[in-house]
Amino acid sequence: MSSVSGATVSTAGHALTVLNEEEQLFQSTVRRFAREAIAPRVREMDEAGLFARDLIDQFFDLGLMAIEIPEEYGGQGGTFFQCVLAVEELSAVDPSAGVIVDVQNTIVNNALIRWASDEQKRQYLPRLASGTVASYALSEAGSGSDAFALQTRAVDAGDHYRITGRKLWITNAAEAGLFLLFANANPEAGYKGITAFLIERGFAGFAVGRKEDKLGLRASSTCELILDNCRVPKSNLMGAHGGGYKIAIETLNEGRIAIGAQMIGLARGALDHAIGYVRQRKQFGKTIGEFQAVQFDLAKMATEIEAARLLVYNAARLRDAGLPFVTEAAMAKYYSSEIAEKAASRAIEIFGGVGITKDYPVEKLYRDAKIGRIYEGTTNIQLMTIAKKLLGR
Ligand SMILES: Cc1cc2nc3c(=O)[nH]c(=O)nc-3n(C[C@H](O)[C@H](O)[C@H](O)COP(=O)(O)OP(=O)(O)OC[C@H]3O[C@@H](n4cnc5c(N)ncnc54)[C@H](O)[C@@H]3O)c2cc1C
Repeated sequence: MSSVSGATVSTAGHALTVLNEEEQLFQSTVRRFAREAIAPRVREMDEAGLFARDLIDQFFDLGLMAIEIPEEYGGQGGTFFQCVLAVEELSAVDPSAGVIVDVQNTIVNNALIRWASDEQKRQYLPRLASGTVASYALSEAGSGSDAFALQTRAVDAGDHYRITGRKLWITNAAEAGLFLLFANANPEAGYKGITAFLIERGFAGFAVGRKEDKLGLRASSTCELILDNCRVPKSNLMGAHGGGYKIAIETLNEGRIAIGAQMIGLARGALDHAIGYVRQRKQFGKTIGEFQAVQFDLAKMATEIEAARLLVYNAARLRDAGLPFVTEAAMAKYYSSEIAEKAASRAIEIFGGVGITKDYPVEKLYRDAKIGRIYEGTTNIQLMTIAKKLLGR
């Protein structure tokens, strides 16, 4: 099978959506858990703007917060593709659940597995596998798409660093015990001064600030971080001094595949709700599902979701195979977030007037879909990545 990157995948001949036995079992376990444990609480958590801690504890118990962490550190020793399956299944029920698991696995755990020293792995991976929620702190008020313009500074103070600055939009921050945070430790070197640090919530000079009151993903926390001469041991610098830009880019390249998964899950959730509704709502003496126009809406939604799923699964399988995947990841995230918004919007129209009320689940999915085109690189940033490849830049 050829891809944009021109790579040949060793699984050529297999449909991308065919799951092996382990993947099937994993998918059905997460699906059942999402439907039985999360679904009944989605509305309450959305209204409260708070994700239930006991559900997060169940994520840990099920191994969903440590999918790729090696077993020697208490994780599942699974694949990136399994992370994608988990995020899709959770997001079909609640995209807030999806993003909590997404950030933990595909960004923070992923970065530690790849760049942390053996000592850092021994110190933090068992915690990340057993109850410590993690956040990834790159963005600031003045640096979003232009992430490397960050102003948080790390100053060498002998046996430790002093970090000062403010981070904005940090997912999971209300619950997190560990923050993978980027600061510039050598501003004269520009982006080559950006360095990654592992910050514990209890470090002196560190505080979690205001929580955002958002349109969608309301149960997922998004907060400001305040670092005022935060004292960070030298041993908590992760990777190379000045190597943080590479860690930031490479983890986001992977993480955005799972945002694609969040969006296909969301879109599938919208489609499932619409199918259920058209079977029971009657107009003109028939269920509305008997009208061909309504059937065509469902058919178009299903086709777009399948196309998006193929992009997401392909990017994830390329990543697991160690093959180039950056363009495919950008395509997956770009397209999935487009179709998710469209699917949620169509689902509301299929529900008619009740679709925009909070008594039915689709208005929430429409609100939740919006962020897909913004975080982990906006749509324009994905399109720039794709165009760069096309034009050989
Ligand atoms: C709910 C939520 C959760 C988040 N979670 C995290 C997190 O956990 N960790 C973290 O570090 N960050 C997080 N973010 C931040 C997120 O990644 C940024 O919001 C995103 O990268 C966009 O940055 P910005 O908001 O500053 O928008 P801007 O960069 O100001 O962009 C504004 C507009 O300008 C466009 N634009 C900018 N530059 C260009 C260009 N060169 N060419 C064309 N168009 C351009 C953008 O596409 C966009 O439409 C989160 C954000 C939200 C809202």
